[in-house]
Parts: sequence; structure tokens; C-alpha cells
Amino acid sequence: MEQYFGAESKNRVEKMVAALERAMERDIADLPWMTPATKKLALVKLKAIANKIGYPDQWRDYSSLKIVRGDALGNSQRSNAFEFRRQLAKIGKPVDRMEWQMSPPTVNAYYDAQMNDIVFPAGFLQPPAFDKAMDDAVNFGNIGSTIGHELTHGFDDEGRQFDAKGNLRDWWTVEDAREFEKRASCLVTEYSGFTAVDDLKLNGKLTLGENAADAGGVRIAYMALLETMGGKIPPKVDGYTAEQRFFLGYAQGNCENLRDEIARLLAQTDPHSPGKYRVNGVVSNMPEFQKAFSCSAGQPMVRAKACRVW
Ligand SMILES: [Zn+2]
Repeated sequence: MEQYFGAESKNRVEKMVAALERAMERDIADLPWMTPATKKLALVKLKAIANKIGYPDQWRDYSSLKIVRGDALGNSQRSNAFEFRRQLAKIGKPVDRMEWQMSPPTVNAYYDAQMNDIVFPAGFLQPPAFDKAMDDAVNFGNIGSTIGHELTHGFDDEGRQFDAKGNLRDWWTVEDAREFEKRASCLVTEYSGFTAVDDLKLNGKLTLGENAADAGGVRIAYMALLETMGGKIPPKVDGYTAEQRFFLGYAQGNCENLRDEIARLLAQTDPHSPGKYRVNGVVSNMPEFQKAFSCSAGQPMVRAKACRVW
């Protein structure tokens, strides 16, 4: 663990998450569409989020699980039995708020509405998502945007259904929902105009929640980076400014290569947009991107009618 995600990396990502949560707080406070009463509840919920980064404070005790070299089937059966007993032992006990649903080496992350926690296992906090050899600009653009994405889910049309303690309770007013939908419909139109493959367009309604979280995540990560830079202008790296490298980091996090067949399937079933549009769809709405790369009106990454939810 020390070699791949040591105390220094853990500390750095925890600081990044704290900067993102401060940015989220400022963003919520400035939202023109959310009512003051709902903003108050949103901030309570934001403060209550448990951040689980890298590995748990207390390691799970696997000493009763016997792993035998050369016995894959037996290992699998014993592991299943171990997990079954672990789940059964929860009966009658209070919820363990420190529990992780993923193991530290897992290459994935989640926000859990019922636990109100964000979990980023060490397996995910590796290059290219998080690279301890790189500076903040690239890391905020890549993993920072993903953390921001997960954070916004706690406050959107999904997160509104669960309160700060994770109980099923809608804390938005009817007015908030109406204003959210009004702004979100701009994204539905935008993404429905993108071509997945041949003549097949994306489904703007299917991908709405994820597209809004992408837009919010990048905005919050960008705010957090500017706060962390504290008004200082870092020297260019490879000819690019920190602002430019933030967006390059975000784009790199979405690199992928798909065959037409799978692109066609995903366009009709996956609530996430394809990588290309997770990038172009987001940055073409951002004056911050256009400023960073000196884009002018009429160019492909400058949308005449920019959408904004978060
Ligand atoms: Zn998401």
C-alpha cells in the first residue's frame, strides 16, 4: 500500500476533496435557481458527507479466511462463505458508517445516497486518474472532476430523495424541482444533437443526470483548483498553462476507443454519454475553457446558447 498509495498520496487527495467540498459550498450558495430553504438543507448534507479515500482507517479482519495457493475454487467458496457470515453478523446491529462497499484495490468509485459517503479506493487513485508525479492542475482536471461529479449526485434529482443521514426523504421544494428541470432541459437538447455512430443520436433524456453531474463536477473542480493556486500563476508545463492542463487532464480521463457496435448499444442503454461528448459537451458550455484556449464566438467549442445547471 505504501508503494502505490502511501500516506502522502492519501493526504493529497483528502486535501483535494476538502477543496472540492468548499467549492461545492460556494457553488450552492450562488445558485440562482435553488430556494434559500433548500440551500440550507443542501449545506447540512454537504457537511455530513463522509469522505473515504484510499483505504479504511480500520482494516477488515480477514484472519479467519483461509487462502490456499493452487485452490482457486476453494478460495472462491471460502471467500463467499466469509462474506455471507460477515453480512449475517450485521443483523440487529446499528449501521456501520465506516463500512466500505469496495475493497482498497478496486478500480472504481461511488457516492452512496443512503450512507451519504463518497468512496475512492486506492486502486482507482492511480495514473491516469490520479498521478502523484503530476501537479495539481492535471489531477484536479482528471480525478478532481470525477470526485466533483460524485459530489453533485448528492444534490441533484437523485440526491434530492435522500437527506443528510441517508434517509429516504425528498428535501427539495416543488419550485426547486421546476427550476432544475427548466435548466436541465437545455442539456437534453444539447446532448440529443450529438451523433453516437452513423445516424444514431444520443438520448439526451437517458443521459441527463450524468451530463449534469459531468458539468457540475468539472466546474467545481476548476473552482477548487483556482482556490488552491491562490492567485499565483504556475509556470507553463510542456507549453501549456495550468488552466489548459486542467482541461487536458479532464479530457485524458475520458479517453476510450469503441467499436461501432458497442457504441450503438451504449448510446441506447448507458446513462453516461460517450467519452468524446462527456468532454466536448461540457467544455463547450464553459467560458472558463474558452478563455483558457482563447476560443472566439462561432468556433466549435463555443456554444451560442450555453447550458448551466450547477
Ligand atoms: Zn454519475
